[in-house]
Amino acid sequence: MEKILEDFYGLAIGQITELKAAKPELNEILEFYGSTLSAQSEAGLSFEPDLSGLEPEVCRSRNSSGLPLLTAEHLLIDQPSLSRLWQALCRILQVWREETIPDGFEASFQTDHFTQLAKGALEDSSILENMASETGIAYDVLTFLAEQTLSPFVSCYAEKLAAMLKESLPEGEGTDQKKWLRGYCPTCGREPLISKLEAEIGSRWLFCSFCHTEWLFKRLGCPFCENDEQDSLRYFYVEGDEGHRVDVCDKCKRYIKTVDSRQMYRSQNPYVEHLSTLALDIVAEKEGFRQGGTTIPA
Ligand SMILES: [Zn+2]
Ligand SMILES: [Zn+2]
Repeated sequence: MEKILEDFYGLAIGQITELKAAKPELNEILEFYGSTLSAQSEAGLSFEPDLSGLEPEVCRSRNSSGLPLLTAEHLLIDQPSLSRLWQALCRILQVWREETIPDGFEASFQTDHFTQLAKGALEDSSILENMASETGIAYDVLTFLAEQTLSPFVSCYAEKLAAMLKESLPEGEGTDQKKWLRGYCPTCGREPLISKLEAEIGSRWLFCSFCHTEWLFKRLGCPFCENDEQDSLRYFYVEGDEGHRVDVCDKCKRYIKTVDSRQMYRSQNPYVEHLSTLALDIVAEKEGFRQGGTTIPA
């Protein structure tokens, strides 16, 4: 139904090391994201997702009705694994971003909190807003913690689900990845972080940084409001780097960065492409446009 990046963490961590050498000015931010990815990679290693309640027929019917496959209720993740990663990420935020984490906050999260965090990350962000004001932590920090703690487990679900759905297809029937064509992730329902134009035929794939699914989308069109009127869609890039552009929509005032593989010798893992082009986010936000995907503590 959609493709999942194989060995996402191994690839991203290796490319971040190369990127640090090529762009030393990004060292500090890359150390932060590299540490985050290492902690996540470790957390997901031995995790076995439980797909009960996600039968192929149910998934196919959800998919054809435009509903993402996973909801917060589907996620069965053991408390010790979640808490370990949660605490590791709290420490990483304190070391690399000098974020203030209230006393006792790291250890205070129990199973019911994680269920709420999953609901907040997947279904209703007002849950996270309420939790932030109750616990006294900044909203963007709590969002980052919730998303990054859940992400490696959710990406295991996405990977196993994609394999199960592929296996369950009748012989000779192709996958239906070309039918989705929506602006949100077919697996978890979140907005894309970045998009990519393939080198050969220039087809456009959107990337979900939460579950690491990539899915096909129309070449021209805004993923956030589905606007496809050409006079309100445009893009810009920094001179000399035509391989990375920012697609903006004047209708909804959102933007998405696009990696144009046709203009490049070699493109990276989409998440690393995002990290290597953070300067473009600053420009787009200054122009009054808002990005999709993961919230990053500023
Ligand atoms: Zn997703
Ligand atoms: Zn739009």
